[in-house]
Amino acid sequence: MAAPKDGRVNLLGLDRSALEDFFERELGEKRYRAHQVMKWMYHRHVTDFGGMTDLGKALRGKLEERCEVRPPAVVFDKPSADGTHKWLLGMDAGNAIETVFIPDKGRGTLCVSSQVGCGLNCQFCSTATQGFNRNLSAAEVIGQVFVAARHLGNVPHRERKLTNVVMMGMGEPLLNFENVVTAMSLMRDDLGFGLAGKRVTLSTAGLVPMIDALAARADVALAVSLHAPNDELRTRLVPLNKKHPIAELMAACLRYLRSTKIDSITFEYTLMRGVNDQPEHARELAALMRQFCRQAQDAHAAKVNLIPFNPFPGTRFERSGEAEIRAFQKQLLDAGVLTMVRRTRGDDIDAACGQLKGQVMDRTRRQAEFRRRLEGGADAAA
Ligand code: SAH
Repeated sequence: MAAPKDGRVNLLGLDRSALEDFFERELGEKRYRAHQVMKWMYHRHVTDFGGMTDLGKALRGKLEERCEVRPPAVVFDKPSADGTHKWLLGMDAGNAIETVFIPDKGRGTLCVSSQVGCGLNCQFCSTATQGFNRNLSAAEVIGQVFVAARHLGNVPHRERKLTNVVMMGMGEPLLNFENVVTAMSLMRDDLGFGLAGKRVTLSTAGLVPMIDALAARADVALAVSLHAPNDELRTRLVPLNKKHPIAELMAACLRYLRSTKIDSITFEYTLMRGVNDQPEHARELAALMRQFCRQAQDAHAAKVNLIPFNPFPGTRFERSGEAEIRAFQKQLLDAGVLTMVRRTRGDDIDAACGQLKGQVMDRTRRQAEFRRRLEGGADAAA
């Protein structure tokens, strides 16, 4: 739990049972009082205890003294011409993360970040160029949904503009496991944002042991960033593949289907010109997906999401041509593999997949630089 300097407890980010415990043990109140406060926070976006009018005056006073409801500060927000909306949210000194809302025919998807920066170093992702700074707290993860829901005037069970959350922003969510699981439980809880399990998706670069851990703790949809159909190419694009190669990853996905209520896995595949977009790649990918479906005994157990590469300054990759994208999709469809092309949204505000950068004070890199300078001699101390 993030304890601010004045010692107040931020109630955002405590899941239902933690909040009930807090009310009972710390405030000496009935557990159901926590439910009233959750409704004020997550259904009506009220942050001021004085406005929580169904609580007694004494309780309101106690809450004001000891607690706060503190969502991340909006540094700026930016609408895109296509309806996409991006927020830059301030975290702590010099750090900021990005959250993106993408409306689309009857649904609204919020793309949420899990870390400040990312340490996985996927070669085609702009977040990777910034290195890793720190994990977000549960309050900072759920706070992103809070900020968007407040802006949209989202009311669960009535007019719902925010219908889906994808953990596909900055960072690797499975490397911030506890906080992400807590935040996802608030996304799903009826007293929280009330989203169905299939409408909350966690996307991972493929941390095999944590996929099993997730299956034991949450019923959410799983997306796996595959990007290559064989280990040789995948290791070049996603260095984590060296530790958890494709066969292991696919086996973990199968176990995920078997031990959750989720019935299909989305495999994300970013198409880069001349790198992974050739007919032989499509052939190999189709074979891998069909094998997976056979093992799952369900022809729809795998869904492929093709993402045309989104460029960013300094990258050596290029987006595949439209003809190649279409041909790649057709080859998969012809092989009986469910395949969608994710159309780029929000790229006029750098809000598309792989373009999120936020503002990262990179500790890993700063420390490495500091060490290098130390080893380099006396001027290092300057
Ligand atoms: N770390 C998690 C979630 C963040 S990335 C993961 O790897 O899944 C969200 C998705 O965007 C991933 O599939 C990622 O591989 C993809 N992506 C990253 N950079 C991209 C780029 N430049 N263009 C298109 N998609 C990209």
